[in-house]
Amino acid sequence: MNEVRGGVYPFCRSCTASSVAWRAPDPNRLKGLGTHFYGHHDVCPHCSSSVRTLYVTFLWVPISRVGRYRIIRTGGHSYVGRKLLQYPLPVTAPTEQPPSEFKNHPELADATYEEAEARWAAGDSARAQPLYETSLAACEKALKADDPATLRVRLRLAQALLATGDYGAAIAWFGLITPQLVRVFGAGHELTRIAIEGITSAQSTVGGPQDEAKLLTARLAKLEPSLGRTNPSVLRTRGALGRATLFAGQLVPSIQILETTLADSIDVFGANHPDTNVARGSLQEACELADSKSRKDREAAARARRRWL
Ligand SMILES: [Zn+2]
Repeated sequence: MNEVRGGVYPFCRSCTASSVAWRAPDPNRLKGLGTHFYGHHDVCPHCSSSVRTLYVTFLWVPISRVGRYRIIRTGGHSYVGRKLLQYPLPVTAPTEQPPSEFKNHPELADATYEEAEARWAAGDSARAQPLYETSLAACEKALKADDPATLRVRLRLAQALLATGDYGAAIAWFGLITPQLVRVFGAGHELTRIAIEGITSAQSTVGGPQDEAKLLTARLAKLEPSLGRTNPSVLRTRGALGRATLFAGQLVPSIQILETTLADSIDVFGANHPDTNVARGSLQEACELADSKSRKDREAAARARRRWL
């Protein structure tokens, strides 16, 4: 069980180490052109993934080889996959620990986090998750949202949500903390890598960006009436929806959603809060993408820039 938990769900540790996160191609891209997996070997005894070769097909005839992947079927035609590395990545050198305020808050070193870690290590992510939530609430009260200690707990909570199959909540968390991990720990750090792996894994389980947007819309419709539009969980979900809408190629609605997220984040957290900075960064990214698109997209970006950036 530990061995399975050590990997990026649902892949085991050793299958995770020999592959990288990968998002399946959108099945409805071009008429006639598609992709198909061939072969089925090296079945893993821990996570039952198998190695398959992906080809681009035209009218079901393979025309070019894309690469080799570890695949786990998730029912029907859906699957999750990881791209196989020809040469496994070397373990990244441990970078210097960024300074944390944790040591000045002895009250935070309580039993809750340790128990959460013990349950997580034992593979009981369902019971670890509420403990991480309690621990995180205490951290966020005493420390900055992007203090290294807070980020570690935020990451664990996202991992636990992913492991329990709460993909919408996991995507919302990973999407928020990945830019913060990059800034605080660095892009090559192990924790950053875990977050990138986590969000890719959640996204590829859900499907393409459109499926992701649908899932996040449904989550928002469920959360917002009871929690209100300025609840942090609602804000996180709306930010994730804005990014999924962006990757689905709908720039104008994406910019609108991200503007709302930024406005609400400023109201709730303040203009310079780490979570507000992520909201601003997402809007910036959407505007940059829109600059190379249609006139409507460019105008939406220009309006958003005048208001917020
Ligand atoms: Zn495996």
